[in-house]
Amino acid sequence: MAPLLIALGSCHEALVQQPLLAALRAARLAHTVAWFGTAEALVEARALGLPEAVVAPAAPAPERPEQRLARLAAFAAELLAGPWSLLVLAGHGTFAPMLAAMARSARLPVLRLGAGVRTHRGPGDAPRRAADHAADAWCTANEERRQQLLREGARADAVFVVGEPLGEALAKLPAAQAAPVPAASIVLAFEHMQSLQPPEAAAAMLDALTGARGAVPLLVVPTLPVFADPTVRLPVGCRRLEGGATAQLHAALGARVVVTDSAGWQDLCAQAGVPCLVPASAGALPELLGAGAIATFGTEPGQLQATLQRLAGSPRQPAPIAGTAAATLAAIDTLRQPGSKTMAPAAAPTALPSDGDASGRTLGEDEVALVSMAIRRGTLNSTRGTFVTTFEQRFAKWLGRKHAIACGSGSAAVHVALACLQLQPGDEVITTPITDMGALTPILYEGAVPVFADVDPRTLNVTAATIAAQLTDRTRAIVVTHLFGLPCELAAILELAEQRGIPVIEDSAQAFGATYRGRRIGTFGRLAAFSLQQGKHITTGEGGIVATDDDALARRAFLYVNKAWGYGDPKPDHYFPALNYRLTELQGAVAVAQLPKLDGVVGARRAVAAALQHELAGVAGLVLPQDPEHGTHSWWKFAFRVDPAQIPGGAVALGKRMQQTGIACVPRYVQKPAFECELFRDWSKSPVTWLPLQHNPRRERPQPLYHRGDYPGACEGLEHVVVLPINERYTDAHVRTVATAIAAAATELRRG
Ligand SMILES: *Cc1c(COP(=O)(O)O)cnc(C)c1O
Repeated sequence: MAPLLIALGSCHEALVQQPLLAALRAARLAHTVAWFGTAEALVEARALGLPEAVVAPAAPAPERPEQRLARLAAFAAELLAGPWSLLVLAGHGTFAPMLAAMARSARLPVLRLGAGVRTHRGPGDAPRRAADHAADAWCTANEERRQQLLREGARADAVFVVGEPLGEALAKLPAAQAAPVPAASIVLAFEHMQSLQPPEAAAAMLDALTGARGAVPLLVVPTLPVFADPTVRLPVGCRRLEGGATAQLHAALGARVVVTDSAGWQDLCAQAGVPCLVPASAGALPELLGAGAIATFGTEPGQLQATLQRLAGSPRQPAPIAGTAAATLAAIDTLRQPGSKTMAPAAAPTALPSDGDASGRTLGEDEVALVSMAIRRGTLNSTRGTFVTTFEQRFAKWLGRKHAIACGSGSAAVHVALACLQLQPGDEVITTPITDMGALTPILYEGAVPVFADVDPRTLNVTAATIAAQLTDRTRAIVVTHLFGLPCELAAILELAEQRGIPVIEDSAQAFGATYRGRRIGTFGRLAAFSLQQGKHITTGEGGIVATDDDALARRAFLYVNKAWGYGDPKPDHYFPALNYRLTELQGAVAVAQLPKLDGVVGARRAVAAALQHELAGVAGLVLPQDPEHGTHSWWKFAFRVDPAQIPGGAVALGKRMQQTGIACVPRYVQKPAFECELFRDWSKSPVTWLPLQHNPRRERPQPLYHRGDYPGACEGLEHVVVLPINERYTDAHVRTVATAIAAAATELRRG
């Protein structure tokens, strides 16, 4: 069979791919290594065991970046004329995307090694992305990165999870090559100037790292010009690392702690089991956080010192050496099978990602790592564990509220929020008839009577006017639900509530990351409730959160989740009747891993919604959902209205057609207003419904208490809506599949 072409561009890549090259030799697979790196790096790479390589011609004189690319392109063009079966491409350098693109146009399939690394949102990742996107198949380190590649449109059968080759390479690092590295306690390896901004903070960080008068030796890796420039004076106790990539590797292996903002160094530390600190602003790799060797730090010196001490004392746990070379070899074999379908051009995806399983969720290796950690610790309940409290603190910070209290479900969160208000029997709580039942039954359990306000038929949200129509002298709370992630028009509602001194609870279960007048939804009401159920923006399977700025309410919420036992008080007791609504540490661990993904999830959903709006704009008879006038939608679902005058049969007929073509959707959402559910038809059937009513004059009225005639908005709205599930994993191809099916269904119905 035609030989393989293996392209390498740096000493680091030569080292990382060394076990693979050895395996190829052992398997007697014909291959040629091509060197795209510099001459200096080649010398070092050879010392690390890089076999003979075809080497790009050296630059005749100092060259500009575009001159370098032109030189490498000429080399590549000559090379690609050879009789290769597959280009195996490592590296993130700018040559990598160029080479992959050239191979593609020469119809040479490309297998990309180390694919799917995305650490720097924005331009920093551009060469990685470009090289990945120009490939036909991918070897990647872990499930998280596989999912990333799938999200970006890679074919599932062309992505191979082979483990992290760095670990294997490190284990085989020739000791003889150990560069003389000065004994250092801390190694500093920064690659991004932003991480050292502002300069005062950077100086304070260096001072905190070196301790008083530079007592702790600090070895600085010259990855940034400021550290490489010999005229820049480093603080007392800091030294520059001399030598190239090998010296850096040995420095890392010998370090007590590595402080870095670099993705590569984080990988290195994780593989070598070296404790690693990442500035919080630089964003640690989520899949490494929790591997035990990594922590983030803010710029506060005391906190930094404490984290350093903790890490320096933590035991080293090198990652187990996986057979990554063997797995990569197996992938190469698969790809070179005669008639391998993997290399066929990607077909349009038909299966849509679902939030009911991994295909439509952001669950990955970081969740696995943290849950494993919880299990290894053996503390699975939140009263003694740390994951739930960590999540609470981080969520409060993310939301912009003083307190967040986690609990077992979104229903529990609504219940806790209501319980905090200490309602009296027969008090009235105004809410919406279009919501999850979990938001309604807690009202009854607190002894109060749910009173339904109508909704705007176009938004399905309650308004100040519909709430005002239901106010009585018994109204003690208003629950506003931002349905599907669309913020309610809050200004008028809050003004009305304020005038009457009635607290507002925001049911934000569907609206993580939505905003109103520049602030996050969930920061407006006296209390807010969120859900972490399987299908919400982020999930722990089941789970919920209550948020508030009020210290007393927060304490009460905490107590309500904890059987009202006064944890932390001098003389604790069970102060009032309350349930065990706690989240477990297992869920807390998942929540901690999910939270950093939330903004990305909302961003991705916004992009999907925008693409749907674009694709569906020309379909007559649809009224598409939009961002509200004063805020942003967070797109839990894409709920659109169907005009039956233009699409015969309306929402129900269109939804049915869509379902027949495999597009899941829910015409009429909850089908009927909540008050038509059996539990509200006869309040006398259960003490839970009957008791609150005994303290409210509505008991005199005939059953049922609520009638659809009083809810024209809710009825009209439900009749016309089709709820289209979307999620953060939809690609443009998925959007097109859905949009095409909707347009086709509308056309068919119009034809009759
Ligand atoms: C999901 C949801 C709830 C209930 O949350 P659970 O976690 O399922 O108990 C409450 N209100 C709204 C608006 C919801 O969407």
